[in-house]
Amino acid sequence: MYGERLYTREALPGNNWASPGCEVNMAQSGLLARLNCREYKNWMKAGHCLLMLQCPLQGYIQREMLAFHQLLAARIRGPTPRRRCQCRAKGKEFQPGCPVCVQWKELILAHHNNRDGEIHWGNSNPSLWPTDYWEVAKVYMPRGQAQKRSPQNCDAAALLNLINTCDYFRIRNRLRVREIIKCRNELMHSSDMMVSSPWLEAFGQKMHDLTAEFTHVPGIVREGERMQEILLSDWNVDKFEIDGIIYAQGPSDIFDLPPYAVEIRLIAQLFQELYLDVEEQGSLTEENENQASKMKKFLSQNEDLKFAFQVDLEWLESVWKNPVPLHGEGWTPTLLSAAVFVAISLALTAIFLHLK
Ligand SMILES: [Zn+2]
Repeated sequence: MYGERLYTREALPGNNWASPGCEVNMAQSGLLARLNCREYKNWMKAGHCLLMLQCPLQGYIQREMLAFHQLLAARIRGPTPRRRCQCRAKGKEFQPGCPVCVQWKELILAHHNNRDGEIHWGNSNPSLWPTDYWEVAKVYMPRGQAQKRSPQNCDAAALLNLINTCDYFRIRNRLRVREIIKCRNELMHSSDMMVSSPWLEAFGQKMHDLTAEFTHVPGIVREGERMQEILLSDWNVDKFEIDGIIYAQGPSDIFDLPPYAVEIRLIAQLFQELYLDVEEQGSLTEENENQASKMKKFLSQNEDLKFAFQVDLEWLESVWKNPVPLHGEGWTPTLLSAAVFVAISLALTAIFLHLK
């Protein structure tokens, strides 16, 4: 149980779990209320499991993709070019402008399970294909990977998509991968940030099936066991009052991240979808517009989260008022936002681990 580290007076909600019965401030009350809503807690539990899956997958995919890159590089005919070519991809289009890229494109497509469907060539820089394994890997991933330099920058959904799309991964049952990708999409598009208990139960079974498919990946069996503990845990937070001061106590130890850090990461991923929409087409799709409205409403009801995503909410308002494409180099709102999220998450994790 996480009672020993729940809520200090000074910390932001979820920054650490203080002594049992620490006083609750106003911002932390918001987190307490959310954690005592079963459907919201379900949403967070599933999201937490996806975050836990990320780490073992990253190491595994790095090793596999390095080997895959060597395999493809060995098949390229002709001398290695001394200079990088000028070929560039954009969106779902790539027309090679040099003989080396022609060969790489053929080889990448030959291993692509969706070669007749959408391929996000714009994720990668073809001029780096001969030297950077990750630029090749990104062709097998969903949109929005252009700035990612390694698997360590990618979330579980992007990594599972890579496994699903690249036939170098020999998997007995690819459907198990696709099921978790589908769950992740349902989770992310549940814009009221709630999922039912039957949904969570089915998710737990699918996650169990997925980890059973990857028992050869170091760390994944252990993480799978811990995920099941999280999914089955009650996770209730109790509030009580002594001498007019409100105290809180809840479960612990099985969590890598404090709940607030999980919330921040998941909501950051929701915003990323919106940023990508606007980058690609200058405005939100109808579906995402609806989601953005619900997110705004949700955040406005939760002051602590609203504060954490103030910059994003302001950006959203500006997009609604004046839709403008956000192409270009440098610190776009996406990059800036991602950097802020990473910094917040790292800080929260560091504080949490320090106190653990
Ligand atoms: Zn080229």
